[in-house]
Amino acid sequence: MKIAVLPGDGIGTEIVAEAVKVLGALDLRFEMEQALVGGAAYEAHGHPLPESTLKLAQQADAVLFGAVGDWKYDKLERALRPEQAILGLRKHLGLFANFRPAICYEQLTHASSLKPELVAGLDILIIRELTGDIYFGQPRGRRASPDGAFQGAPEAFDTMRYSRPEIERIAHVAFQAARKRGKKVTSVDKANVLETFQFWKDVVTEVHAQYPDVELEHMYVDNAAMQLVKAPKKFDVIVTGNMFGDILSDEAAMLTGSIGMLPSASLNERKQGLYEPSHGSAPDIAGKGVANPLATILSAAMMLRFSLDQPEAADRIERAVQDVLAQGLRTADIFSEGTTRVGTKEMGDAVVARLKAQG
Ligand code: NAD
Repeated sequence: MKIAVLPGDGIGTEIVAEAVKVLGALDLRFEMEQALVGGAAYEAHGHPLPESTLKLAQQADAVLFGAVGDWKYDKLERALRPEQAILGLRKHLGLFANFRPAICYEQLTHASSLKPELVAGLDILIIRELTGDIYFGQPRGRRASPDGAFQGAPEAFDTMRYSRPEIERIAHVAFQAARKRGKKVTSVDKANVLETFQFWKDVVTEVHAQYPDVELEHMYVDNAAMQLVKAPKKFDVIVTGNMFGDILSDEAAMLTGSIGMLPSASLNERKQGLYEPSHGSAPDIAGKGVANPLATILSAAMMLRFSLDQPEAADRIERAVQDVLAQGLRTADIFSEGTTRVGTKEMGDAVVARLKAQG
């Protein structure tokens, strides 16, 4: 089991160190190799995704990623900005399926901006198509408007497109994931307005014929955005395109109130994956030892489950995380009165201690 460890920038190095510590406490053998990515790689090699880092990632079964970025790189030309490393890894590894669970732990329901009864026990999985849609569709650019009321005026344009194979493969991923959970898929589209998403809906419906044991519902994206804050527990698996998924997964993340708790996975057809917390490099708290490492530790659990075929080890880590929350340990971002405030390292140590206590 070969893992490429890419901590990145800001709190990335602090939180990944804790996830590596947790992996080391399992009775499993991993080959882990670390490399620079993002701003750190730019400083050392002049590029956010150096050839050597990309090669390491390509040769690994999975990539454990921290976070990249810092405001000091905002003035760099786009191709050299730290965030380009993530786009490069997605592209070169063909990571088309993004998994973002939104789980609201019993002890953290108060952290949500919604009423506790709406989010208590929330467990939804958003599956976002990651390599197509309007984010990558060609042609795109700027030109003089060729027609209409503003003909000749400068305009910008992008192209929304999805091919049948792209929709089929993400639909299969969603139905298969739902089979292992609540057996319900909500496919989110905008079929009432967009040709691309009428096609999306048609293809998802066709693929569904192969999964009679899974319930399928279709929902327009505007309604999905409303339902997520009105009755989020109605959802099990949500599958949608790149842009809608980008927006809805952040909305769903906020239902739990604590971005420091949310893992994510991006997978290709060979189940090779990139595992990272849903948050960024948090430059405002970097180096202070206060960042919450649990999203990264839970990302490592997802890595064990989806890429490394070790579901029991994944369960053990998830149980250990629940145990430390039940013990009342909290990093600053999830702290509330009556609980015990701990730093990044202490939180990692506590998870390791719970793992060892499981025997
Ligand atoms: P952010 O997610 O880094 O931080 C948002 C807020 O949440 C901050 O107040 C931060 O302190 C807090 N926070 C985030 N993670 C936390 C954790 N584990 N524990 C405790 N608090 C945490 O988003 P931002 O401030 O908008 O972006 C900062 C940098 O990160 C930017 O350069 C941005 O481009 C980059 N970024 C990277 C990724 C990634 O690497 N995947 C994702 C988003 C943003």
